[in-house]
Amino acid sequence: MGTRLRRLKAQLKGQILSDGKCLSGKNRLTEHEIDNLQSYYGSAIRRNHSSVQNMRQAIWAIFLHMLSTDEYPQHGFCPIGEDSWCGFKKAEASGKSYKHKNSLPVAVVEAMRPIFRDLSHPDLLKNVCMEKHKTRMKVFIMSFGHVFPKQHLYRLKHFHLVFMMLFVPLMMVMYRN
Ligand SMILES: [Zn+2]
Repeated sequence: MGTRLRRLKAQLKGQILSDGKCLSGKNRLTEHEIDNLQSYYGSAIRRNHSSVQNMRQAIWAIFLHMLSTDEYPQHGFCPIGEDSWCGFKKAEASGKSYKHKNSLPVAVVEAMRPIFRDLSHPDLLKNVCMEKHKTRMKVFIMSFGHVFPKQHLYRLKHFHLVFMMLFVPLMMVMYRN
């Protein structure tokens, strides 16, 4: 995300957006905003790594949240509840009113739309899911492989019981976050 945004900034340098201003500059796409977006994107991936659909939704939640205004709120994908990162949903959960304080103008957010589209593509996210799964399996095998070497596992009469009682809870813990 950070790399793509920096590339976009370089590509559109000096070009005027639909609101008559450039992409970068004060209150526009600054390095600080890029770092924030990189971190929001990373957390959307990490929190939803077991589901491509949830990852996609969480990525678009960031985009639509940034586009939201008092007149046109678009928080449908933002997480609900009082501990939500979304101020609108947070206020909604506690019955308070909310005023949008957009950090980025609509023209700047719209310029980033193709990047969000590319980086939320199911093919890309499927690879992310697969990589996370492989890494977790490697960690799992490295941690517990010595306890149950393959040849011993096959010999266990009640392997399915061992699996249900030991492996499934462990996998659930591993995939919880
Ligand atoms: Zn929101």
